[in-house]
Amino acid sequence: MTNMPLPPIDETYFTNFLVDLLNVPSPTGFAEPAIDFVERELSQYKQLELSRTRKGALVAKWDPSTGSGRKPDLPPVALTAHVDTLGAVVKEIKPSGRLKLSRVGGIQWNTVETEGVWVVTSNGEKIRGSVLIDTASGHIYGAKGGETPRDDDHMEVRLDARTTSKAETRALGIRVGDCVAFDPRVEVTDGFIRSRFLDDKACVANFVAAIKAMTEAGQSPTRTTYFHISNYEEVGHGAAAGIPAEVAELVAVDMAVVGAGQESDEFHATLCVKDSGGVYHEGLNKKLRALAEEHNIPYKTDVYPFYGSDGEAFWRAGGDVALALIGPGIDASHNYERAHMDGLNATTRWVMAYLLNVDK
Ligand SMILES: [Zn+2]
Repeated sequence: MTNMPLPPIDETYFTNFLVDLLNVPSPTGFAEPAIDFVERELSQYKQLELSRTRKGALVAKWDPSTGSGRKPDLPPVALTAHVDTLGAVVKEIKPSGRLKLSRVGGIQWNTVETEGVWVVTSNGEKIRGSVLIDTASGHIYGAKGGETPRDDDHMEVRLDARTTSKAETRALGIRVGDCVAFDPRVEVTDGFIRSRFLDDKACVANFVAAIKAMTEAGQSPTRTTYFHISNYEEVGHGAAAGIPAEVAELVAVDMAVVGAGQESDEFHATLCVKDSGGVYHEGLNKKLRALAEEHNIPYKTDVYPFYGSDGEAFWRAGGDVALALIGPGIDASHNYERAHMDGLNATTRWVMAYLLNVDK
């Protein structure tokens, strides 16, 4: 039997959605605007039943029996991807009126030196600023600036506001604990997409593009499917909650690691067999590899050295599912990330192949 071809992907839609999502600031703990944005987009697909977990994740349920009266006999499946990103919070207001930060999700200081930021106050006001070392002026510190450690004590935010004291900064409405979002630096060039935070908004866009393509082709998943849009992945427990207990298989869709020693690249999707959290589920891995081969989806298999997924968060929380991890190759992850449409399309196609053929 030959497979039905997968429905075509609207690349323009994918790219526009992804660029817009990348431009919604959503550091872990402050990801609600991105959850709202995805919810608004998905609300146009009337077959989806949308809900939020108490923790704030978005869950979209696609029951293929809706409207047809058919009840799928096999247990549901789920896919998860996250919209939260690396970021920071205000740790301290310095006597100079500048801000010390506490990093969220382990962003590396050297990657954000001189970056623009928005400080979002607790009453929703946004104040612009930038990240500098505390020895930034070349005309004062000379070569010493190069020796300054890029660490929590030496990096600060200079606010674009008239403040030279703690009191003046407080008068702007800024308090310890306020959200600090780094500029996403989105740029689309000749098939490549660059941004700090493709991890993991690219894969949320994979879901949305797959849902659109299948909807337009009049196709439904073979099983009831939950799309879990996670909001706490970068701190290690996003999908620990929110995957319904009756789900039998979970596919985490998140970036693949590209760089020296890795198989993954930006032009393929990757099946991760093992990462820091251990080995994924062999049976589900085999199923996904067979689907990729049947549908000529360019893919690699790989092992990631410093990596944990939201699927593993669910396993650790006691989730009883078969679990696999797939995703597009992302160069320079948690730094200045880059992806290519080839790897992104491969991932969207893999998601569709799974949804349409999970019972095979
Ligand atoms: Zn991720």
